[in-house]
Amino acid sequence: TNRTFTMIKPDGVEDGHTGAILDKITASGFRIVALKKTQMTVADAQAFYEVHSERPFYGELVEFMSRGPIVAAVLEKENAVADFRTLIGATNPADAAEGTIRKMFAKSMGENAVHGSDSDENAAIESAFHFSGREMF
Ligand code: ATP
Repeated sequence: TNRTFTMIKPDGVEDGHTGAILDKITASGFRIVALKKTQMTVADAQAFYEVHSERPFYGELVEFMSRGPIVAAVLEKENAVADFRTLIGATNPADAAEGTIRKMFAKSMGENAVHGSDSDENAAIESAFHFSGREMF
């Protein structure tokens, strides 16, 4: 088994989808290793999305991700990173497959309800950004 990192983004939390999204995640075979509701500061969001700092949407992304509470979680499952990306669907909800979390809950390319790590290495970095070792079981 291995692990991935996810955030229910501010739009998903604001719209009251936290419970439904967590239910869908656990029903899809992911075990919750760590879980918390938190809010990123502007500086936190800038650091978390540093890899996108040259992209045209970076400012908008930072503003969006820091505008309200998120729910951060570490998830465990065989093939966790790839299977979770399949479960959430395409970045743009217009392209997301039927039954995916983004198809069900995302509103736009930017406000797309959930984040999922894109590699094992980034899953470990992103988990450590939000959780200490004593918060992951
Ligand atoms: P995530 O990293 O959140 O799981 P992703 O890997 O599907 O998403 P990336 O291309 O890494 O997508 O972009 C990171 C995030 O930046 C997207 O989830 C979305 O919130 C935002 N984003 C991406 N492209 C755009 C865009 N063209 N306009 C506005 N926001 C965007």
